[in-house]
Amino acid sequence: MTVSVKTLKLLFVSTPVGPLGSGIGGGVELTLYNIAQEMIRRSHQLQIVAPVGSTWNDLPLVQIPGNLQIIAQTQERTAPVTMPENSLLANMWDYARQVQGDYDLIVNFAYDWLPFYLAPFFDCAIAHLVSMGSLNNPLDQIIKQVAKQFPRTIGFHTQAQAATFALEQQYPLLSNGIDVSLYDFCSKPKQQLAWVGRIAPEKGLEDAVAASQITNVPLKIMGKIQDDLYWQKINRDYPNAPLEYLGFLSTNQMQEVLRQCRALLMTPHWVEAFGNVAIESLACGVPVISYRRGGPSEIIQDGKTGFLVEPDSVAGLIAAIARLDKIDRYACRQQAETEFSLKALGDRFENWFYKILDI
Ligand code: UDP
Repeated sequence: MTVSVKTLKLLFVSTPVGPLGSGIGGGVELTLYNIAQEMIRRSHQLQIVAPVGSTWNDLPLVQIPGNLQIIAQTQERTAPVTMPENSLLANMWDYARQVQGDYDLIVNFAYDWLPFYLAPFFDCAIAHLVSMGSLNNPLDQIIKQVAKQFPRTIGFHTQAQAATFALEQQYPLLSNGIDVSLYDFCSKPKQQLAWVGRIAPEKGLEDAVAASQITNVPLKIMGKIQDDLYWQKINRDYPNAPLEYLGFLSTNQMQEVLRQCRALLMTPHWVEAFGNVAIESLACGVPVISYRRGGPSEIIQDGKTGFLVEPDSVAGLIAAIARLDKIDRYACRQQAETEFSLKALGDRFENWFYKILDI
């Protein structure tokens, strides 16, 4: 049993790009869910502030109305900070301002300028979990400023992600975690591969589809179509790929398909901050083949729980697919259990929260 040093009153403020449960927020949705449930299990008090339309009924949610923020990945590096009228992000933080006296710590899950800017104006301490690598100059600048003024309050998932911000200060690396018991181990997969994620250019789905077409191994694709034109182009460019799109699935439905695959292909063209799908795959005993870049390169044990290949090389993916017999699927499950369990996740985050509060 975990013995908490102090019971904390925590306010989690969600991403402003989409309701929780919609998939628009990408990995940050599952991350928030997992940290929240683990903090509750450890007897901390918790409230989540999230957009109207959020569908998680098993966690304490305050739903806030307003217009969504534009997702950062679709914008230029030099794009100015923008806010729509009746901004959801501003409304969520106005709510946080009003109730801050009831909490020990506010945790910011938004990859956006405003919450960082607001940090010195709040009486309550704010922990910022940065969910992506560096993408936008104004955001980089405000993150640097907050890191200087409030050391330790900026948390990253991986070293590769943090490095993109080039901070001078020390920062916590928090990795990530999942409820491994929700993912079933499968020792005998079918002759098929999986690709899981938001369908958007930075995720490089076309490379996985190309590898599937060349090897003729069926590819099961799961995830939210965030960029429809991009998805249509992939279908036009690879008419003969043996692919099947299954939609955006619940964790349970997703793991049912994923676990029956020989490998998960991760083909991001950007510096992936972490890559939740990698640890979900490992939990099913499914090795991960990924480019040697960003979060996946710190998760996958090359040759043991998957393969790290030359970034953006479809030939590299194909060579790795041919070597999948070398992987012991049980080692994949074991890595998920030891490094990425809810307990491991909870220990890392609880520690971070206590450090910020000097407890
Ligand atoms: N996901 C899901 N159902 C699907 C496909 C994906 O719930 O059908 C979730 C998956 O569990 C993961 C997230 O979508 O938590 C993708 O997160 P990841 O960190 O891999 O990438 P991001 O979208 O944050 O760039």
